[in-house]
Amino acid sequence: MTPLPLPSDPPPLFQNLLVEPEEARSILRPQKDDRYGFGFALSPYRGCGHGCRYCYVRDYPNALHKPEDWGEWVAPKLNAPELLWSQRHRLHGERVFMASATDPYQPLEREYRLTRRCLEVLLLCPTTEVIVHTRSPMVLQDLELLRAFGDRLTVGLSIPTDDDTVRQTVEPHAPAIPSRWAAVERLAAAGIGVTVAVAPLMAVHAPQAFARRARTSGASNAWVGRLRLLKQDPFYKVLADHGWLKVLDPTYAEGIRQAFAETFPTRRRPREKAEKPAPPPPPPVCQPGLFDRVG
Ligand code: SF4
Repeated sequence: MTPLPLPSDPPPLFQNLLVEPEEARSILRPQKDDRYGFGFALSPYRGCGHGCRYCYVRDYPNALHKPEDWGEWVAPKLNAPELLWSQRHRLHGERVFMASATDPYQPLEREYRLTRRCLEVLLLCPTTEVIVHTRSPMVLQDLELLRAFGDRLTVGLSIPTDDDTVRQTVEPHAPAIPSRWAAVERLAAAGIGVTVAVAPLMAVHAPQAFARRARTSGASNAWVGRLRLLKQDPFYKVLADHGWLKVLDPTYAEGIRQAFAETFPTRRRPREKAEKPAPPPPPPVCQPGLFDRVG
């Protein structure tokens, strides 16, 4: 593992984010539900600078921040790589999902490199598979490291809409959709398996063209995940105000799923686990508990 220097004096603010470095007590969160297709979730940060307006993590119990502060603070887990190294014996034959409660390539990763350093640990675990899931083309900064995993790593790019103006409303601080397509293309061209996750499904204007774009960008897999939302959730009003409540409709999601099923007729079969063969798992779910997987 190449030690990368951490900032010696972390700034209290980074691009208007309140930065709250912390020492984590644990780093691997077991996922016992086989439907998610991974054994452990690994989040090098708490909080997320992308601050997506629908993000369910904002409602996690938090002694310091209110849900409405979501996207304004991030706690980098300074000891994440060392903690992971100390826990590596748990990872034999397992699949690790990075990350379920934060984006591993959110803006602060440029400063702290915690995701990169965790990946360097995982690279040294030869029977461990890794799924990196992000909304950011910043993932490209680790292209060579990702490539070193060979076929035991895939990258998921979340692209919930084909319209960047929709993205500007629902994910105002996350990278633009065209930059995510560019990341898909670069990753695929480098021989890295890429999954396009249309999740959580937002308004889509041209489903067939959207699916073809995923295909021609080089993605080897794609899936569609519907957002589940309670009426009292503030995001419900956002959808209602824009006339987008259809995204909660299973029939609408099924139409989008069908377009992708026609474009990706054979789903790439994930590698079996090293010592614990299991039925092929479903694609990863970015936000366990919120989405119905429909494709
Ligand atoms: S949905 Fe993902 S990228 Fe968006 S704020 Fe939540 S954790 Fe971050």
